[in-house]
Amino acid sequence: MEHKLYIYNTLSRKKEQFIPLHEDKVGMYVCGPTVYSDVHLGNCRTFISFDLIYRYLLYLGYKVRYVRNITDAGHLEGDRDEGDDKFAKKAKLEKLEPMEIVQKYTVGFHDILSIFNTLPPSIEPTATGHILEQIEMVKTILENGYAYEKDGTVYFNVEKYNKDLPYGILTNRKLEDLLEGTRELGGQDEKKGRLDFALWIKAKPETLMQWPSPWGWGFPGWHIECSAMSTKYLGTTFDIHGGGMDLQATHHTNEIAQSQACNHTTPVKYWMHTNMLTVNGVRMSKSAGNGFLPKELFTGSHPLLERGYSPMTVRFFMAQSHYRSTLDFSNEALQASEKGFERLMDGYARLQKLTPSATSTVETAGLRTKCEEAMNDDFNTPIAIAHLFDALKSINLIHDGKETINAVDLNELKLVFKTFIEDILGLKSETEASAGNEAYKKAIDLLLHMRLEAKRNKDWATSDKIRNELTALGFEIKDTKDGFEWKI
Ligand code: AMP
Ligand code: ZN
Repeated sequence: MEHKLYIYNTLSRKKEQFIPLHEDKVGMYVCGPTVYSDVHLGNCRTFISFDLIYRYLLYLGYKVRYVRNITDAGHLEGDRDEGDDKFAKKAKLEKLEPMEIVQKYTVGFHDILSIFNTLPPSIEPTATGHILEQIEMVKTILENGYAYEKDGTVYFNVEKYNKDLPYGILTNRKLEDLLEGTRELGGQDEKKGRLDFALWIKAKPETLMQWPSPWGWGFPGWHIECSAMSTKYLGTTFDIHGGGMDLQATHHTNEIAQSQACNHTTPVKYWMHTNMLTVNGVRMSKSAGNGFLPKELFTGSHPLLERGYSPMTVRFFMAQSHYRSTLDFSNEALQASEKGFERLMDGYARLQKLTPSATSTVETAGLRTKCEEAMNDDFNTPIAIAHLFDALKSINLIHDGKETINAVDLNELKLVFKTFIEDILGLKSETEASAGNEAYKKAIDLLLHMRLEAKRNKDWATSDKIRNELTALGFEIKDTKDGFEWKI
């Protein structure tokens, strides 16, 4: 491939040229949601960021196998094997079967991501659907000597592993430093080392979801599912692994250790992490009480919101920041994005109506290259968007008759706008989205053409009637030198 895509790799802490392991095929794994509750806007930021990355890889011509899992078992409240099972707790609370909880929130997750116009992954495996693979992996890790069993629970032996390979490689931390941050083991503890984590957890009689294993009835630890499912669908070494930054220190660090201990290979070539969505500088999360839901955002029904914002405004707001920067939520920022998005889409609509001239007096031919350069620099969507805004200035000048564009340049400009706005940024006109289809737009155009005709015939009564009634319905109609423009 001709392009030079650079990706910031968490593992090497620098931008590296992206060279896939298998020519034009790319394997990408992203940690999915834990479906015991609704996803909040912070979670959505991570999934939308990887959607932008996925879309750009497709644009470059790669055949991407994009795997995003659903965690539907085995996630305890604490990241270090303490607390209740999240699903069991919620099931008791809502008086439902754990699998009803899983179904309810999986459907909700899909609905929200489709409202945000994200593409579905190629494979969406679930933890409960891969218990056998997880048990097999735990067995191999035990055989390879990197784990031990204690009364039906199997722990990963971090200190043993660290003698052979650096456990803290992803966050560039030494074992001694990591140990400092953990509490001392007490007499009650089954673990040998403070950093050891559970691969398989013994079930209590009342545990709702449990499976038989060589170590008795139990359920998998949270981290092992991603090692097992990524290995199954992408192989023992694959190209890209992603997730939110909060997963680096524990979940992804443990994933690397498990996969290495089982397969004796470095599992991932490029580790990518999205930065956090914050509210007034505080990370958005359920526990902080600032984790509002996309639904609340659309309707404005959360104390932090002055009013509602549309899904495409929110998607645009996210694309306007680089995925590795923190993104702070505020009403002002969203209102600015709303205006920006409207300007972009108005310009895009105006572009469709431009008529070509014999020559071009504006330079638009370099737009595709500039946008590609931005995206090739670690998926820099804000810079790509800035280039599109620059091009809007030319579109407006051509529209006002101050500049001209020839047919070849106009076609390329239309294509670049379509490619970047629709295919890569995944934005769509909301008038179109809510109205449903082209037929609706054509019907309004037809009415406005009838109005033009009435005006030409000096039939002011009909012309005013069409204009006034459309205005009353919420349409904004503008007379232009070529005819008209309208929007809702
Ligand atoms: P969870 O369902 O909690 O496992 O999270 C699903 C994904 O959302 C993970 O990749 C998290 O890293 C990510 N995530 C959680 N909170 C935020 C946040 N405030 N901003 C961005 N991503 C987040
Ligand atoms: Zn994961």
